[in-house]
Amino acid sequence: SLSLLFYCRAGVENDCAAEIMAYTAAKNVQGFVKAKQNTAHVLFQAHSREELMALWNDIQIRDFIFVRQILLASELMSNLPDKGRTVPILQAFEENFSSVLAGKKYLDDLFVEALDVEVHKEVLTFCKKFTSPMLSELRKNGYVIGDKMQRALRLHLLFLTGQSCYIALCAPKKASQWFMGIPRLKFPADAPSRSTLKLEEAFFAFINENDREERLKAGMTAVDLGACPGGWTYQFVRRNIYVFAIDNGEMDSKLMRTGLVEHLKEDGFKFRTKKPVDWLVCDMVERPSKVTDLMIEWATLKLANEFIFNLKLPMKKKYQEVTACLEKIRCELDQEGIAYELKSRQLYHDRDEVTVWLKLKRK
Ligand code: SAM
Repeated sequence: SLSLLFYCRAGVENDCAAEIMAYTAAKNVQGFVKAKQNTAHVLFQAHSREELMALWNDIQIRDFIFVRQILLASELMSNLPDKGRTVPILQAFEENFSSVLAGKKYLDDLFVEALDVEVHKEVLTFCKKFTSPMLSELRKNGYVIGDKMQRALRLHLLFLTGQSCYIALCAPKKASQWFMGIPRLKFPADAPSRSTLKLEEAFFAFINENDREERLKAGMTAVDLGACPGGWTYQFVRRNIYVFAIDNGEMDSKLMRTGLVEHLKEDGFKFRTKKPVDWLVCDMVERPSKVTDLMIEWATLKLANEFIFNLKLPMKKKYQEVTACLEKIRCELDQEGIAYELKSRQLYHDRDEVTVWLKLKRK
């Protein structure tokens, strides 16, 4: 039987499971999750195949916080031989997915993947070697791969060991485009801190490619709360956006020399901008509820148009904590009659935290 297979960050499996249960319950799909700590993946099994397929048709990665990838997966294939693995895999693929493929032999791509867990690094080395023989086997059997046909599905093989794997399909448009669900971003050599990648990834995750230039335009203004040493500020400066950097610490001197940064050594919880800005970002390490209240205040006063902020989640029940924060934002903005879009994701570059994106809609 088939299930939904979700990738997540190692350590948040229980939060990911809680989120999936909340999602499936809201869709009235009966089933159960299987989640094991530090395995970086979670499975959902529905009681009926029809319901599972309906769920898969509906499901979008952007509806989730703790999910990196969503796949429709076979049962685990085990006892694969050491030589000639491609044949039984292809056979099982066709058996498991005949109704989904409906005779079509187009595939968007092939990803041979491992779990994002330290002890699976060796499996990943095997995966890389296995990709080319598997592609050959598929082509030999008449499959066309990489022909970016609209709606072609992507084949994923998730190897747990060299002898066992899940065979899975992915709907690329509704899921992650990245290998293992992990965006490959290059650290800019002149950025003052690694956390610059968090904001860059957030821009990718929350802003459509077509809108990115318009929403991050030269001449805009931003406030960066907890800015030092300036990794997030750097992302604005490189786009010629003027930044008010609020932090008691020291800002990177190269960044200051651009003339695009005003550093104010003030308390980020007390600072308020005099003129509304385009962007407010916040990376201060504080209780999530305190950061949430601050963001609500800036939003209800319309002091910024678009927000990206991190909620630090050292606690066990992360999903519960984030949903409470998001609920509070919705509740208060609804009460004020403010229209908005709100999403949250645990980004690859996030650690014990999630990133929240909020955009006020102009009426
Ligand atoms: N985003 C930054 C970057 O990319 O370089 C890193 C920010 S670091 C995680 C958190 C920063 O928040 C620290 O520099 C700290 O001084 C600052 N901070 C913490 N509490 C603050 C407060 N109440 N007001 C202003 N800054 C604060």
